[in-house]
Amino acid sequence: MDGGLSEGDRAFFRRNILLEEMGEDGQRKLLASRVLLVGLGGLGSPALLYLTAAGVGEMVVMDGDRVEPSNLQRQILYGESDIGLEKAVCARDRARRIRSDVRISIHPGRFSAHNARRILAGCDFVIEATDNLESKFAVNDACVALGVPFSHAGVTGLQGQTLTVVPGRSPCVRCVFGDLPDADADGDGGGGEQGILGPVAGVMGAIQAVEAVKCLVGFGQLLAGQLLTWNARTMDFRRVPLPPEPSCKVCRKRLGELLDDEP
Ligand SMILES: [Zn+2]
Repeated sequence: MDGGLSEGDRAFFRRNILLEEMGEDGQRKLLASRVLLVGLGGLGSPALLYLTAAGVGEMVVMDGDRVEPSNLQRQILYGESDIGLEKAVCARDRARRIRSDVRISIHPGRFSAHNARRILAGCDFVIEATDNLESKFAVNDACVALGVPFSHAGVTGLQGQTLTVVPGRSPCVRCVFGDLPDADADGDGGGGEQGILGPVAGVMGAIQAVEAVKCLVGFGQLLAGQLLTWNARTMDFRRVPLPPEPSCKVCRKRLGELLDDEP
């Protein structure tokens, strides 16, 4: 990487740079990277805050919802004064309070096979923090097709799960869950009808941010090829090895076949 860090950046990111795994080179990589966050709810809130604070240079955020009172119990990007406002706008403004120079663009609408190629262009990593299966599979299919690594997570009740997908190198979400509904909830909606303990979503969203930083800087072992599950009631963290799924229709597809580009 060429170009050094400014004195301001050295001060701001001092505790990052002190990490043996990071150093100034790693910090420059973060500052030069672009991350897409799909869903700004219970998972996306901590992910956006931590990735902004860690120094990701540019972020694209997607969430078409407005802030509702029932979101505030777990969606820590927002406060009472944000009720009724667009989540994406509030999230951008909140992140800029951490770092005024972070570049955040808002992508209106819903992630789909139609707009995937345009949205994913130039993105180095994706945080999939949605609350519905349709969006989860849309992000999965597009990221696998275009070769963009991403973190999947889901939370319901007192349980969470997360998996990192490195296309071409590790199983995808469909390899693991097929087309069946998984035990997901939360993200950007009202969390469905199920209860969710806020900090459980917070932990999983923070893990997603950790995975993004590791992948972008290039250190440590990713949660690729293994599903991390957490039961907050018993405090059991488990890593479930995922065998390759040769019949997965998404992983077998070649570039572009799954995308239905805009005309
Ligand atoms: Zn697959």
